[in-house]
Amino acid sequence: MSHPPLSGRILPGSMVGGQPATLGVMGGGQLGRMFVHAAQRMGYFTAVLDPDAASPAGLVSHHHIQTAYLDEQGLAQLMQRCAAITTEFENVPAPALFTLGAHRPVAPGADAVAIAQDRAQEKAHFTRCGVPVAPNAVIETPEQLTAVQDDLLPGILKTARMGYDGKGQVRVKTRSELAAAWDALKHVPCVLEKMLPLAAECSVIVARGWDGQMVNFPVQRNLHREGILAVTEVFEGNVPPALAAQAIAATKSIAEGLRYVGVLCVEFFILQDGSLVVNEMAPRPHNSGHYSIDACDHSQFDLQVRTLAGLPLVQPRLHSPSIMLNLLGDIWLAFQDAPPWDQVLALPGTHLHLYGKLKASQGRKMGHLNITGPTVDEVRVTALAAASILGIEPF
Ligand code: ATP
Ligand code: MG
Repeated sequence: MSHPPLSGRILPGSMVGGQPATLGVMGGGQLGRMFVHAAQRMGYFTAVLDPDAASPAGLVSHHHIQTAYLDEQGLAQLMQRCAAITTEFENVPAPALFTLGAHRPVAPGADAVAIAQDRAQEKAHFTRCGVPVAPNAVIETPEQLTAVQDDLLPGILKTARMGYDGKGQVRVKTRSELAAAWDALKHVPCVLEKMLPLAAECSVIVARGWDGQMVNFPVQRNLHREGILAVTEVFEGNVPPALAAQAIAATKSIAEGLRYVGVLCVEFFILQDGSLVVNEMAPRPHNSGHYSIDACDHSQFDLQVRTLAGLPLVQPRLHSPSIMLNLLGDIWLAFQDAPPWDQVLALPGTHLHLYGKLKASQGRKMGHLNITGPTVDEVRVTALAAASILGIEPF
């Protein structure tokens, strides 16, 4: 690996090189913000590198280095401040992580992040690990476009890099639609995936330490709407137990195969014939793991802190059935002002998380609502009541 492995532990509240033990994060979005919250609760100082003055994580961190991700001075400042550095955003340029990794422990490492940044490389890794992927073809040249087999249609053309929340994806039914879609995507490298008959979607989050120890969260069942995660449900029996075991084993082998350090999420499709196909991975905590803040004894962000600092990892335990509703900008646009949080918070077991974003737009992730309760039925009733107040379609 390129980065120096962590030598010893970074104990919370200790002094490192004459300054309070400080953990750094590349990227200042909501995932960085929740990492900062978890790190600070344990007594660490934090530093965030993000160009945006109003970034959700920058607003709550001890230090906010406000430069571009590849800015040499910014990276030098981050290294000077931090005992170890993580990332919250998979499109952080891998070269920035290589630079940081030459001087500081960086988890996940640049090599793992580089694979996750490229759908073609990512799929090759899944295949190496023996985990089935959707039938697909890499399209980088006009010849490859012509050579596409008819049985990949209808399909989804996805940019190989920089996609998120369904952006950079076009659904195509015919060869002419495929050609038009590749034109629209400006001929950047893409992967065409066969459209699969989905019964459901799920994801698994693991945390793996510098010493190779690995723990996992329970399987999350996810509902996407228009390419964006809408609802995550986590409770015993949310997916058939055999499939859950298969998804957890696949995620562990994917993490192991990367010698991954940090928190990794792998997303899966459950097909109508009951088989499991891997979709993609995120080299960081994941939106489908936000429920863990309120429903588990250790959240995905707690474990991100522990892996980075070399602290012991313990298997997280789900202590309540849970449903998470994503709160998209659409809700703010519909209410024209603050949504009626007072009505939502009057419901039992509702936990509101807003990311401090001042401007709402359609599809923008502004926050999430976690619902916990004594039984799955009660959690579902509350979640549906909250959804109805907020104008979120029932599920
Ligand atoms: P994110 O990174 O936010 O999870 P993304 O932009 O990388 O999203 P994908 O995960 O590739 O997008 O796809 C988004 C959603 O589109 C999936 O969760 C699934 O609902 C649907 N989808 C993607 N690929 C396929 C496929 N091959 N067959 C059927 N549905 C698909
Ligand atoms: Mg996805």
